[in-house]
Amino acid sequence: MIKAKIRMSIPISAEQHAQPAEPATHIPCIDPATREPLGEVRIDSPEDVRAAVARAKVAQNAWRQTSFEERRDVLRKLLAYTVGAKDDICLAVQRDSGKTRENALLGEIWPTCEKFRWMIKNGEKHLRPEPISSSFLVHKKARLEYHPLGVVAAIIPWNYPFQNIVNPLIPALMSGNAIVLKPSEWVAWSSGQFIDALRNVVEKAGHNPDLIQAVQGYGPTGAALARSAVDTILFIGSVNNGRRVVEASAERVVPVVMELGGKDAFIVCDDADLEQAVHAALSGCYINCGQNCVASERILVYDALYDAFERRAAELVSEFRQGSSREGVVDVGAIVTPLQLDVIEKAVNGAVAQGARVVAGGKRTLADKGDYFEPTILADVTPDMDIAQDEVFGPVMLLMRVRDDAHAVEVANGVSYGLSSSVFSKNRPRARNIAAQLEAGMSAINEFAGITYMAQGLTFGGVKASGYGRMNGREGLRSMCNIKAVIDDRLPINQANRVFPVAEKDYGVFSGVIELMYGSGLAQRWRGFLKLFSRRQ
Ligand code: NAD
Repeated sequence: MIKAKIRMSIPISAEQHAQPAEPATHIPCIDPATREPLGEVRIDSPEDVRAAVARAKVAQNAWRQTSFEERRDVLRKLLAYTVGAKDDICLAVQRDSGKTRENALLGEIWPTCEKFRWMIKNGEKHLRPEPISSSFLVHKKARLEYHPLGVVAAIIPWNYPFQNIVNPLIPALMSGNAIVLKPSEWVAWSSGQFIDALRNVVEKAGHNPDLIQAVQGYGPTGAALARSAVDTILFIGSVNNGRRVVEASAERVVPVVMELGGKDAFIVCDDADLEQAVHAALSGCYINCGQNCVASERILVYDALYDAFERRAAELVSEFRQGSSREGVVDVGAIVTPLQLDVIEKAVNGAVAQGARVVAGGKRTLADKGDYFEPTILADVTPDMDIAQDEVFGPVMLLMRVRDDAHAVEVANGVSYGLSSSVFSKNRPRARNIAAQLEAGMSAINEFAGITYMAQGLTFGGVKASGYGRMNGREGLRSMCNIKAVIDDRLPINQANRVFPVAEKDYGVFSGVIELMYGSGLAQRWRGFLKLFSRRQ
């Protein structure tokens, strides 16, 4: 169980949290909703990181021999722990990230449980050897086998402290890998507790807990993990740090999956259901206080609906309650990091200076309590503004006008990112046609794109600067595998294909075979056939 023990003392300032004393040995952890200190977490040195990876390798050597049923048994026990401890997990997440209680339950627990369920039911199906046609090699069988790669490194961000841990852990364990996680320094307090609890479950199930390990620290700890002897890296975070991880992975040519930022378009056509689109946009912009990689960062509304959309969104946002869930039910919580608060404030002020109009919010709030930014709506945003190009990752709805389908697609694709997207129209073929033209890894029709996460059979990932490779679903599971191509005996023909010594006639015979098999038209194929028997090779 999670021990949500809190060391009560005088709240520390955001600056103290953001800038640790050098050289830091511990991470000071605070509750961003109240700025109360939560405790300290020891920073792992590069030697600690290397030792953790070495222990993981040992554990994985035994784990890779387990049957799918044994792996499912561990996943069932981890699921039982998650459901049983959900209230404690939600509380720890709330304290460490400042998110609301409901966001913790719906964003951390529910998708994680669904991922367990999906993997327990479908994992083996996607990892079993898969027969493939052996083409004209009729005496041979061909198949793909899915072997574990070894040790998976998962370097993860702060927006979903529990889910970001369990999400890569489930496919890693199911495919026979061990995992070493580097949680974000901003949620080190709860992450350490979660990983301890998960290790406990594995140990009680009779397996080596070193299958799951945490290395804690700032960027250099992540860099040490990326340069260690891991066999694959999943990086979830910002584009800049993603680039650094790609560089590190190149040293040992280690495969990487990059899950980076987004600037998702949310298109509201002139024939959309206004009420449906507005409520979905509220989810897209304000769930988790907008700190979502798939947040609806740009709301593109057609001229005909623009004013009504703006009015209705403003009306609903004006009723939002903001604060700490520990003081009662709230709609919107805090910003996880003070650095992110600065980013949001700078982006909003910059947009206003460039001509955007504040319809709601627009500034920091509850500064005496914690790190909060008001739920904000900015209207009259145009594609040339910085805020229309750069990820905000905060509770900010940007309203942009578009004329028609072609214009919507042009604006939507006019950014460097391509994570997910949403299209709203009562004409579904029209919406599908627009979605098909969007440069994005995911598209949702008449839904906030975050919902794709609940269909765990779907893959998750982006294009362009949003990254490459995929999490979730069959593709995410197999991304942690050595997909081995195997040719095997079908018939006991113990004859080698003798290539050596090369005979005078060989070139002519093979040339005939190629023409016979692949020639265009009967005439060429017939010539190939004759060549096989020609004496003049
Ligand atoms: P971040 O890049 O600052 O940090 C992510 C992780 O990388 C942290 O654990 C950090 O300590 C570590 N790190 C920092 N420097 C490193 C280095 N040089 N080498 C290795 N590791 C290093 O990102 P963040 O601020 O924690 O998260 C916000 C970003 O993550 C946003 O851009 C958001 O869109 C993105 N994100 C993407 C997804 C997705 O699935 N596509 C999901 C969540 C968040």
